[in-house]
Amino acid sequence: MDLDVTGVEQAVSTGSLPDGERVEQLVAAAHERNRLVADGVVADYIPALASADPDAFGVCVVGTDGAVHAAGDVDVEFSIQSISKAFVYALVCEVVGHRVARERVGVNNTGLAFNSVVAIELNDGHPMNPMVNAGAIATTGLVPGADDAERWEFVGSGLAAFAGRELRVDEEVYASEAATNQRNQAIARLLASYGRLDADPRRSVDLYTRQCSVLVTARDLAVMAATLADGGVNPVTGRRVVSAGVCRDTLAVLASTGLYERSGDWLFEIGLPGKSGVSGGLVTVAPGKAGIATWSPPLDDAGNSVRGQRATAYLSRALGLNVFASADYRLSGPADEPRRNT
Ligand code: GLU
Repeated sequence: MDLDVTGVEQAVSTGSLPDGERVEQLVAAAHERNRLVADGVVADYIPALASADPDAFGVCVVGTDGAVHAAGDVDVEFSIQSISKAFVYALVCEVVGHRVARERVGVNNTGLAFNSVVAIELNDGHPMNPMVNAGAIATTGLVPGADDAERWEFVGSGLAAFAGRELRVDEEVYASEAATNQRNQAIARLLASYGRLDADPRRSVDLYTRQCSVLVTARDLAVMAATLADGGVNPVTGRRVVSAGVCRDTLAVLASTGLYERSGDWLFEIGLPGKSGVSGGLVTVAPGKAGIATWSPPLDDAGNSVRGQRATAYLSRALGLNVFASADYRLSGPADEPRRNT
């Protein structure tokens, strides 16, 4: 696809969140109305994740003005898992640029499971997009650094800059996944066999496993999401982490691929880019306005947090965040249950 946009001056058009008191009320309501929802199952394919508390639930919104609005368990740490893919992708895009990211990793949905081997075979060895494991491992293979320590420094310090604080690795989760991630190792070797991985497969999987084991809270994730919403500047620390162009590219990828095989449903109902992970986290970005994060371990059959999706659906509607909405519209049912528009 050749789009002639060189030299076109870039303009941005966006609105703002309602006032802080209103956001505070709506975050509390998003938590309260979903806290007793009992659907979903805690992931156990990585043994160390199985012990997560199914009742834990936190909701946090951080505006691009740096204001934090929180309800529930927003300061409990859990491993970031797949949500790391979004932020490591942004960090790598900053280094390799738009064209290389698109060519080496890709931006198209596979329509298949996040850890699919078939998807690689069906696409001539192409990893397809950075939110499936193949693409995340290909992204990790592009991390700059002369050795493992330098590459880890790039990833670890980059994630910390997004969160605005030092983050540590959960060594138990790392060891548990490292001992059971044969499928990811197979994916990396398959990519390498097609010449689609720029680094050693074993090292790339190890770096990927380590990035997935970084401990975050829902509050951290909301700050990280708000940084993507704020054109790459962390609104709490004031520090630039990535460029505005990288944020735009990352959010475009999240919009089409962030919620596993339900990415289309998500965009249709919520109308915002997001990324979920198997430990129950979910980040959503309202460009120019805010980052939203939820944490609740029970997942639906696609791997997305049940309470997280409901709380975010509520906030997207109640805060007016759907990027496709151009006029007021009424819903025929409660805001957190997908219903037909009237
Ligand atoms: N580390 C996990 C894996 O590779 C992440 C899965 C996820 O959160 O989707 O299986």
